Amino acid sequence: MPLDETPKQDEKLMPYQLPFPRDAATEIVVPSVLPEDDRVWVPQAENVWFRPLCLSISQGYWVNLLKVRKSGVLARHRHPQPVHGYVLKGKWRYLEHDWVAEEGGYVYEPPGETHTLYVPEDVTEMITLFQVNGIMNYVDPWGKNIGYEDVFTKIDMCRKWYAECGLGEDFVQQFIR
Ligand code: FE
Repeated sequence: MPLDETPKQDEKLMPYQLPFPRDAATEIVVPSVLPEDDRVWVPQAENVWFRPLCLSISQGYWVNLLKVRKSGVLARHRHPQPVHGYVLKGKWRYLEHDWVAEEGGYVYEPPGETHTLYVPEDVTEMITLFQVNGIMNYVDPWGKNIGYEDVFTKIDMCRKWYAECGLGEDFVQQFIR
């Protein structure tokens, strides 16, 4: 339809009538982002868990919730690509910045960021939705590489945990695209 042609009134509520592209992946709908079953949270480090929502093996990114309990730390890492975050609960900060990310807030982390996520003592628990692109390079305080994570290591962690906790390793499949 040309852009200048406004839809006829009786077509306003008509669903799209054509098939979707045959190579398009299926959508993901997660009814309860904060899961009823605590086993959905994958343990990552002491007092740190993540909950997968979309694990993109075709584009190399992942969308997950990160949960950190009191005095938990997400180890120092560098992002070569951007990260978007939305704080659902609690608050946290980076040791490298003055600002505090608080409930309801949005954070953009530009490529080149190296930071250490820290949850202050007065916070029982924080939960933040992160969209992470590419890779996280874990580094020492001087930038020396000591490890990495990408969508494939996230998937491996999910498989291992879901097998162990009884949900079954295939539980992760629903989040992979
Ligand atoms: Fe980060």
